[in-house]
Amino acid sequence: MKAIFKDKPGEGLVMKEVPEPTKPGPDEVIVKIKRASICGTDVHIYRWDSWSASRIKPPIIIGHEFAGTIVEKGDMVEGLEVGDYVAAESHIFCGHCYQCRTGKAHICQNLKILGVDVNGAFAEYIKVPARILWKVSPEIDPNFASVMEPFGNAVHTITVEDLTGKTVLITGAGPIGAMAIQVARAEGASLIIVSEVKPYRIELAKKNGADVVINPLEEDLVKRVKVLTNGEGVDAFFEMSGNPDAFRQGMEALTPGGIASVLGIFPGEGITFDINNLFTLKGIKMYGIAGRKIFETWRIADQLLKSKRVDLSKAVTHVLPFDEWQKGFEFMMRGESGKVVLVVSD
Ligand code: NAD
Ligand code: ZN
Repeated sequence: MKAIFKDKPGEGLVMKEVPEPTKPGPDEVIVKIKRASICGTDVHIYRWDSWSASRIKPPIIIGHEFAGTIVEKGDMVEGLEVGDYVAAESHIFCGHCYQCRTGKAHICQNLKILGVDVNGAFAEYIKVPARILWKVSPEIDPNFASVMEPFGNAVHTITVEDLTGKTVLITGAGPIGAMAIQVARAEGASLIIVSEVKPYRIELAKKNGADVVINPLEEDLVKRVKVLTNGEGVDAFFEMSGNPDAFRQGMEALTPGGIASVLGIFPGEGITFDINNLFTLKGIKMYGIAGRKIFETWRIADQLLKSKRVDLSKAVTHVLPFDEWQKGFEFMMRGESGKVVLVVSD
């Protein structure tokens, strides 16, 4: 089968022929992949930044967002059948640590990630533990089922609290921020303000339904948010850029007593901010978001897509043949895309 590999340390990736996975273990299944999509993490691995160099052990098939059909299953697998249409939780949780036993498998202590720690999804077939699979509603297009994993990041971040009638700021309209705009609208937000610096992504935010998009390099974001909210500031701040300035601006733009839900991953050791005035004395409630709640988030994601309350055709901007994966990575690296989906099979 064809697969995209990190074959050795250093920049770049290669597509090559490798044997198909065989003989699923008792609790494993083999999935024939229909679609796989490119994540920012895959781009980090392509570029071989310091994170990749410390974490990835080549040779490895990368990729962790996919949808496909089960073609073989192990003897002990229950609740899934050959022919089932599935997507996967990329976080392979252990199932027996403290967090897994108490309903928090998304922050499992022994987490392994598909396409990072074990062979991933940029291939024609993948062998995975059955427990990470989600049966996708048949109404959902494979192009969108493939991105249910990052869409789940958006859903998890946005749904931490009730948003009915609330004013919202989302910083960063990358693929996840763009999808988050639609989730916030579906959740009943009354005003969705987005900050973004790249022209392509500013347009993407508008296309996904932002009420106001502000470029913080050209305008004072906090001042503008205050004007838009009668001087009060927003009720909820969702950080989806991983940029330290965006984080500080979001904390400042929040109304006292508001909530912050942080998905963005910041470079290096982290960031500094005025914790006294922007958090403690403002009585802010802050959520750290890792992955997706397993499988609570998946259920919400599935229902939002099945019911078409969220339309991912506005966030999936490129659908390319598997062989043109290199082109897909280039769009992602230039920041001139939403989600990029690869058609691996029909
Ligand atoms: P992305 O990098 O494609 O998007 C980030 C966007 O933020 C870009 O469009 C960028 O132009 C914009 N941006 C940069 N500086 C900004 C600023 N000062 N103000 C406003 N916008 C700014 O990333 P993505 O794939 O959409 O993911 C969003 C974030 O979530 C990233 O930081 C990513 O690492 C993180 N992430 C976290 C998890 C998790 O489990 N916590 C999972 C997936 C992704
Ligand atoms: Zn665990």
